[in-house]
Amino acid sequence: MLITNATLITWGENNQILPDHALKLEGDRIVDLGPAAELRAKYPAAETLDARGQYVMPGNICAHTHFYGAFARGMAIPGDPAKDFPEILERLWWKLDKALTLDDVRASALVCLVDAVKHGTTTLIDHHASPNAIDGSLDVIADAVQQSGLRAALCYEVTDRDGDAKATAGIAENMRFIKRLQQNPHPQLAATFGLHAALTLSDAVLTACRDAWAGGFHVHIAEHEADEYHSLNRYGLRVVDRLHQFGILGEASIAAHCVHIDAREAALLKETGTWVTHQPRSNMNNAVGAADVEGLLRLGIKVCLGNDGFSNAMWEEWKAAYLYHKAAHRDPRRMGGYTITEMAITNNAALANRFFPQAPIGVLAPGALADIIFVDYYPTTPLSAGNLPWHILFGFEPSLVTTTIASGRVLMKDRALLFLDEAEITAKSRALAAKVWERFNA
Ligand SMILES: [Zn+2]
Repeated sequence: MLITNATLITWGENNQILPDHALKLEGDRIVDLGPAAELRAKYPAAETLDARGQYVMPGNICAHTHFYGAFARGMAIPGDPAKDFPEILERLWWKLDKALTLDDVRASALVCLVDAVKHGTTTLIDHHASPNAIDGSLDVIADAVQQSGLRAALCYEVTDRDGDAKATAGIAENMRFIKRLQQNPHPQLAATFGLHAALTLSDAVLTACRDAWAGGFHVHIAEHEADEYHSLNRYGLRVVDRLHQFGILGEASIAAHCVHIDAREAALLKETGTWVTHQPRSNMNNAVGAADVEGLLRLGIKVCLGNDGFSNAMWEEWKAAYLYHKAAHRDPRRMGGYTITEMAITNNAALANRFFPQAPIGVLAPGALADIIFVDYYPTTPLSAGNLPWHILFGFEPSLVTTTIASGRVLMKDRALLFLDEAEITAKSRALAAKVWERFNA
C-alpha cells in the first residue's frame, strides 16, 4: 500500500515535517518513504491510500493503562466522597475488580481498544485485575487485542489483599501467559509480570513472584504516601529499597507513578535502569500529588507517559502533564513541550520496543512497524518540527484522528472502524456494566 498526499511527521531521533510525501507499506512494515511523485513513479501498481494533505504520523503509545477500568465511567460510589487515594482504592477499584467476570473483562478491554483505535493509540501496556476471574483472564484480553489489530503488553496484578490463594492464582496467571507467548509468540502480544503495589504484597508473596519469574515486573510504586508509610512502618524500608531487595527492579521493569519516592529511591531506579511511568490525569483525579518528573528525567531515568485507564487519547495526557506541573509549582517554566515529547515519544517508543523488538516503533522510517495515524489538522500558524509539541498541546484534538493503521492494517478509515463493531461492543458493554454495578452495590 502506498500512502500518498501526506504531510509526514516522522518523530524519531531527527523529527522532520515532510509535506507532499508518501509512505510505502509492505506487510507490517514501512518499506519506503519519499516525495509523493517519486514514490508514485517507483510503485505504479501499488494500491494507494490518499491522505488528502493530512498530517501522517506514528501511532501513539500508552505506557501504563488498565483495560479493566472501563465500567467505572459514570459510576457513583455510595456514601460520602472518598477522602483520599486509599479510600478510592477500597471503595471503588477493589470492589469493581471483584465484580468482574471473564465476559466483563473481555467487554471492558474491547471498549478501551475501540477508544484506542479511534484516538490513534496503537501500542498499550496494560495492567489487569479481576480477582474473581483470574485464570485465563489474560487470554481473554489477548483475544480482544488480536481482534482489534492493536498491540499490547499484558500482565495480571498479583496482590495478597484477597488472600494467599488469589495471590498464588495471580502468579500462575502471569506465568501461564508468559509461557504461552514464549511457546506461541504473536506479533501483537507481549507479556510481563504484574504486581499491584508494595502495600498489598507481603514478603512471602514477593519471594514467590521472584522465584517464579526471572524477568521484569510492572508495579505501582509510591502512588500515595500510604505506600511509603506502610512500608516504613511494617518493614522499616522505603518502597523502592524493599522492592529492590526482592529483585523487582531492573531494565525490564516498569514502576508506575513514583510520586512519593525520595532521592535514594530515585537513584535506585536509575541504577537499576527501571522505567518509570507518569499518569498526570490520574494523579490529579486521585489528588496524590505531582511526581518530580523533571527531576527524574534529569537524573537519567526513562520516564514514560501512561493514562492509568483514562481515555486512550494520549494528547489529553500531554495536555494534563503540561498544565499540571505548572499549576503544582506555580511556575510556567515547568514541563515544557520538549519534556513531554521526551516522555511520550522518545521514552514510550523505547519502552514499547523492549516488548516488541521486531522493528522500530513510534517512527516513520523504512524498516519501522507500520503504526500510523492520519490527523485532520490545518494549522492556523506556522508549524515546524521545532514548535510541533505546542501545536499538539494547543491545537490537536483526539477527534482529529481520522485513520488508524497498526502493523500495516487499516483499522479505521475516515473515522469508520473496519475491524471492531463499535455499536455491538458498546451495547454489550452497557448491558454487562449494569450488572457489574448491581454486584458492586450489593
Ligand atoms: Zn495504574
